[in-house]
Amino acid sequence: MIDLLITDTVISGDERRMDVGISSGKIAFVTPCGERKTEASRVVQGKGGLLLPGLVEPHIHLEKAYLLDSMDREAESLQDAIQITSKLKSSFTKEDMYRRSLVVIREAIRNGVTHMRCHAEVDPVLGLRAVESALRLKQSLKHQLDLQVVAFPQEGVFKSPGTAGLMEEAIRMGADVIGGITYQDADLREHLDFAFALAGKYGKPLDFHADFSVDSNDRAVVEIARRTIAAGLQGHVAAGHVTSLGSLPAHEALAIGELLCLAGISVITLPMTDLFLNGREGPEGHHRGLTPVKLLQDCGVNVAIGVNNVRNPFTPFGKTDPIEVAWLLAITSYMGGKRDALILTNMLTHNAAQALGIEN
Ligand SMILES: [Zn+2]
Repeated sequence: MIDLLITDTVISGDERRMDVGISSGKIAFVTPCGERKTEASRVVQGKGGLLLPGLVEPHIHLEKAYLLDSMDREAESLQDAIQITSKLKSSFTKEDMYRRSLVVIREAIRNGVTHMRCHAEVDPVLGLRAVESALRLKQSLKHQLDLQVVAFPQEGVFKSPGTAGLMEEAIRMGADVIGGITYQDADLREHLDFAFALAGKYGKPLDFHADFSVDSNDRAVVEIARRTIAAGLQGHVAAGHVTSLGSLPAHEALAIGELLCLAGISVITLPMTDLFLNGREGPEGHHRGLTPVKLLQDCGVNVAIGVNNVRNPFTPFGKTDPIEVAWLLAITSYMGGKRDALILTNMLTHNAAQALGIEN
């Protein structure tokens, strides 16, 4: 007798109809449909539907979701979105952040997400309230969702004095990951020195918002990759956006892709925000502002997809549905083939789990 039997289902990458038995929360067997006769406490008819692992949302902002009603104007660029949100932050209360975050997490769970990494902002205005809110959610929802909390210095570490100390305090409070941002502090090297030193001191993984532009001169990921290799942190560093790479000539992008592969850096593409904010200047259709997903995968880089923002100045759309974001990426990155469907489902599950260091 097993706990759960899912009959007549298709497993990603395999066209055969299969039965899947589950006992004590683990997969006990996978056999061709109808081949094995088993008693089960509960039977779910798969009806030929696709059976996926739980979706992994690798990059999301909880406390700044659902801000559309509070905005007095719409954002016209990335810096504009940062400024509008920065102004709104002073009115965020702990309860308000918790409430809006919970709406996002409930939507995500309804849409199949079982693991999530959120970037909780740390700065002198919010202090540690966003981190506290995220850690409270992590604890209260642990039976439904595994939540990783990134201490994220959205306003810059040195541009916003006082942030460095708060970042360290966030890690001591229980934040799981050290966040960084390559486009806020004036001195990139100083910013990376700080982030890598903190990672070394506390033995934590790193997750950067990196190269979020269509300017081919923005190549912070090269420096991040070099430092990752020097510090022996291969497999423990992720980079979100990396959109400037999409503006480089292919041979230059390939060289960087190979370096990222060597450094074991996961790249997380965030199509909703990237397509909404990037490439607004210059001739229409010049740059759409996405990281070159196929090129990176050809280099062997682990690439995942994230929701990033829900209904705020950075992305005034969305319902925390990773499959919807994969659909958007399929269209904008020309991923419409049968093999691409498998690649996209892997990006939402296995690749994102790898980016987050989730085992088993
Ligand atoms: Zn982000």
